[in-house]
Amino acid sequence: MAGLKYKLFRTALETLYFSGAHVLLKPLVGGVGAIVTLHHVRPARRDRFQPNRLLEVTPEFFERVIRRLRRSRTQLVSMDEVHRRMTERDFSRRFVSITFDDGYRDTLECAYPILKKYDVPFTVYVATSFADRIGEMWWLALEAVIAQNELVGIRIEGRDRWFECRDVHEKRAVYEHIYWWLRQLKTEDELRAIVRELATRHRVDMAAFCAALCMDWQELAALAADPLVTIGAHTVNHPILSKVSETAVRSELENSRAVIQAALGARPQHLAYPVGDRTSAGPREFKIAAELGFKTAVTTRPGVVFRAHAKHLTALPRISLNGDFQRSRYARVLMSGAATGLWNGFRRLNVA
Ligand SMILES: [Zn+2]
Repeated sequence: MAGLKYKLFRTALETLYFSGAHVLLKPLVGGVGAIVTLHHVRPARRDRFQPNRLLEVTPEFFERVIRRLRRSRTQLVSMDEVHRRMTERDFSRRFVSITFDDGYRDTLECAYPILKKYDVPFTVYVATSFADRIGEMWWLALEAVIAQNELVGIRIEGRDRWFECRDVHEKRAVYEHIYWWLRQLKTEDELRAIVRELATRHRVDMAAFCAALCMDWQELAALAADPLVTIGAHTVNHPILSKVSETAVRSELENSRAVIQAALGARPQHLAYPVGDRTSAGPREFKIAAELGFKTAVTTRPGVVFRAHAKHLTALPRISLNGDFQRSRYARVLMSGAATGLWNGFRRLNVA
């Protein structure tokens, strides 16, 4: 989130919370339910350079949110139940569905015991190359390269460019710069080739992140055995789908479903688009997911679910529970839909 926009958003959250306006706005923007996105649930680390910190919350914060939801009138439901309610137009009670992206081991070790304790169904969207230990978590490779070096060289259009990153401020700035430069490249192939070269040059082992952080198939099978758990697809290689060909989008979705079915026995019915913002998945991806028969597919476009989403079940918005808003009063405002209503300028559907 860009600096100023972020500050405005945060101020809006504070104002909403303290004025109680989110309660008044609820009928307008609260929708019929919300789907929550999580990545890591794990104890906070002390490092000052944590550019991906927005992808994690602590177990304590997570438990507070779950406890609060359990005490509220909201019902905590699986993605199958979200699908049923949307298709049967059963909107009598507001729902929240908890989802995790990527298949991190801390989902099993830190989040699962809390969800089990409160008997909460949840979905884990698995990128199969991560479980297979051959995935490229390029955003973590970039973080490691910058963390471990004071001078980082990167090949841009055939020429080497050097970035000084001696202290935490320089490291943060260099990360932001290179990350967003990579994100605007035209193709996923270019992005991957550049990060691969960067990692090799600075001796960072890209494949090691999967083994260190992600569940293998045995761990996934242990989780999947619990009826509370739904395993969803999240592609094979975790590409930004808008940057690959239509054929590649289809094979990423179909192959990930086939691999999960072969490994765990059940065919995934639900999908999460990698990265999932507006620049990563759009109408082409929504259409392909629907054609391939996924019951639902979720983005990371911020928002709550409205009745009208029944016609857009492969373009569902989510509310991100992330490290930047790690206070339960923010979570309450976020899930009331008021804050993302502001974010979207009260547009109800964001599916184009
Ligand atoms: Zn992901």
